Amino acid sequence: MSPSQIPVAVLGATGSVGQRFVSLLDHHPWFKVVALAASDRSIGQPYAQACRWILDDPMPEYARDLIVVPAAPGALRAQIVFSALPADLARELEPQFAQAGAAVCSNASAYRRAPDVPLLLPEVNADHVHLVKQQRQRRGWSGCITTNPNCTSTGLTVALKALDDSFGVKKAFVVSMQALSGAGYPGVPALDINDNVIPNIGGEEDKVEWEPRKMLGRLHGDQVELAEIRFSAHTNRVAVTDGHTVCVSVELARAADPETAAGAMRDYRAPRAARALPSAPRPVIEVREQADRPQPRLDRLTGKGMTTVVGRLRRDPLFSLKFVVLSHNTIRGAAGGSIYNAELLVKEDLLQALT
Ligand code: NAP
Repeated sequence: MSPSQIPVAVLGATGSVGQRFVSLLDHHPWFKVVALAASDRSIGQPYAQACRWILDDPMPEYARDLIVVPAAPGALRAQIVFSALPADLARELEPQFAQAGAAVCSNASAYRRAPDVPLLLPEVNADHVHLVKQQRQRRGWSGCITTNPNCTSTGLTVALKALDDSFGVKKAFVVSMQALSGAGYPGVPALDINDNVIPNIGGEEDKVEWEPRKMLGRLHGDQVELAEIRFSAHTNRVAVTDGHTVCVSVELARAADPETAAGAMRDYRAPRAARALPSAPRPVIEVREQADRPQPRLDRLTGKGMTTVVGRLRRDPLFSLKFVVLSHNTIRGAAGGSIYNAELLVKEDLLQALT
């Protein structure tokens, strides 16, 4: 390991999001994977044996022979712990790692609503990362927990941020078409989803109606004031492998025609602190002109899966504007997003040294 490389671990490394971490961390310029953790089913086995690999890219060589360890602070030594655990386990285990001094970058919903836990999209609200200072003070942790939003709120919030900065957003009506990988592995049975749409994803609508308000909210002193935007969400599971598509109708505070709104999205830049990080999306938002884009199969890997892709910007007869937004759910919406959060922690000098 080069002296500049920071030791990191992945919890839930064998799952849908865990595999993305393993893949995206291969040759990361700042991070070196030292441990992969999963359940009793996998512990003690080489990763290549424990994991049923489902990504198109081959399993990275570095991971194949790593022996899977328990998800417990005593079983691994890492400065950053990426968590892809189910929410109930995350609630129990993530504080143990934070207490032991690790910076936990979590994908789980367990702590997203905690007032002292940053819910981060660095290209939107990088300043919220400083909530970890008062989190440490209040909870007596030397480490910390940061979270990323659910994968449907991700692209939606990035697109709304560009509109909110330029015109103000008052309300949004959204309908999602969410990929199968968002349900984890093995996820939804083939006989349920083939030739079908499932118009319910447990707990998802509440998340999509609340999480963007925290991320678009303002940091006042040591708390985030939720954005005064009203949301109504329908969330659906569809037979797509990766990439969540969301149809959005939005009411703006100041009128904008579709061309001006498209310009605001194209011109949107991440806050300075988040712009040059290794995982920063380049560009933040890609606006497509074609009438039939974005499509998950064609557009999900834009900007290595980190870019938010918008299309079909047009007037809405009930609201101000409507558009379609696409974001890769296991890259920008999960593992890639967590890695971007960890890079922001490093940049802002918020990591605790290993003792
Ligand atoms: P998944 O495919 O079901 O993977 C779950 C992982 O957790 C597996 O590695 C599993 O290990 C491990 N695990 C289960 N029980 C455990 C235990 N008792 N101790 C230690 N590890 C345990 O789920 P996923 O889709 O990757 O989702 C992971 C988390 O990310 C969830 O909280 C989810 O809500 C969130 N998230 C997912 C997405 C997405 O697009 N999929 C996006 C954003 C957020 P074994 O293989 O050994 O059982």
